[in-house]
Formats: sequence, C-alpha cells, structure tokens
Amino acid sequence: MMKTSDVWLGDGSEPTGENEGHRVGLERATLSDGKNGPTHTKRKRAPGYHLGKSGKAMNRRDFLGLALAAVAMPTFAKGRSNQPRTLSLHHLHTGERIKVTYRVGNRYQRKVLQTLNGFMRDFRTGEVITLDPRLFDLLYDIDRGLGYPGGPIEIFSAYRSPQTNALLRKASGRVARNSLHMQGKALDIRFSGISTARVCKSALSLNRGGVGFYPKSNFVHIDTGSVRSWRA
Ligand SMILES: [Zn+2]
Repeated sequence: MMKTSDVWLGDGSEPTGENEGHRVGLERATLSDGKNGPTHTKRKRAPGYHLGKSGKAMNRRDFLGLALAAVAMPTFAKGRSNQPRTLSLHHLHTGERIKVTYRVGNRYQRKVLQTLNGFMRDFRTGEVITLDPRLFDLLYDIDRGLGYPGGPIEIFSAYRSPQTNALLRKASGRVARNSLHMQGKALDIRFSGISTARVCKSALSLNRGGVGFYPKSNFVHIDTGSVRSWRA
C-alpha cells in the first residue's frame, strides 16, 4: 500500500523544471508550443472534421484544409473514427474510482469532462477547475503506449488551488510558485502494476508537454505546458 510519505511527495514535490522563474516566458512558450504543436492544431482543426454533419460537399478550400491537416497530423486520422477513448482512474487521495469515455473520435464528451473536473478537484479545498482536456489525451496515449495494461491510472495530484499550492510550498521548497497544477494543466500519476520508468518512457515518447520523473516518490508528472523533461 501507499505510504503517507509517498502521498505527500506526490502531491507537493515539484521540480525546478516546472519552476516558473520566468513566468511570462513560459506562458508565452506554452501558448506558442500549443499553436504549433500537433495536439493543439488537432483541436483547432477538429470542427473541420464535422463537415459530414452540416455540409454534404466540401469545397476546394475545405478539401485542401483537410488534406493539409491530414499531412500535418497523421495521428489525427485515427481520431476521425468513432473510436471511444475510455480512462479508468483511481484517485489516491480521495479513494474515488471512475471509468469514463471522455472522447469519442475527435469529440470530447462535455458532461464527462465536467465529471472529470470534479474528480480532479483540489481535494483539500473542494475547489474545481476546468482541466485542459489534452491532459486526458495524454493519459490515454500513455496508456496506449503501454499496451493498455487495463489497471487504473492512479492520480496522486491534479488541480491545486493557490491556497493549497502555497501550503505545499511552505512544506517543500521544491513546489513551483506558479505550478501548472494551479492552471489545471498538470497531473502526477502512476499506473497500477507498471514501473514508473516505463510510464515515463511512454510519456516522453509522445513529445507533448512536460514530463517529470520521480522514481523515489514513484510517480510521473505530466503537463500540457511546453515540451521539456526532468528527473527529480
Ligand atoms: Zn506535478
């Protein structure tokens, strides 16, 4: 079973890599990365794939747009299907478990996302924030990279309110002042029965956002910020 120290470290410990000494710079980088990165582009272009609903025929511009999108985002072609994306999660602090299909094809399921926002709440204060749905795509793709092991993904830490982050910073000098956890863009996770080294490898292979490896505390930090990685 999990030790209390694991819980504390998993929730509070933050890397200097996430430390935002240059907050403005990081935010800009994050936005920029998002615009240029495949995931964000994917989301931007997603409505273009709903043409079947509204229009019977594509004009040349639409067609070119789709063709370009297909070239730029090879993985997105898979997302055009109605393939459901299901996540099985276990929150280690609240003890709650959930299994939800948060996305079908390229459509996020709004109500399910709301449920997930609640699940990922700041468990200390009960505050809920809208999480970046790309976090769930990260979870799903890491799971896929591991061959869908089937066990729940264990959540150490998700949203942190400013109060909670300040509290954790007092306890540990390694908690970032402006942690991406406070923006609903970061999760600390591990996979039941899978080594954190393998989880980390799967996360790094995606080359999306930040990946922090915490082998001693037995978790991996993932976020939808700029692409970077570190080891605690
Ligand atoms: Zn973290």
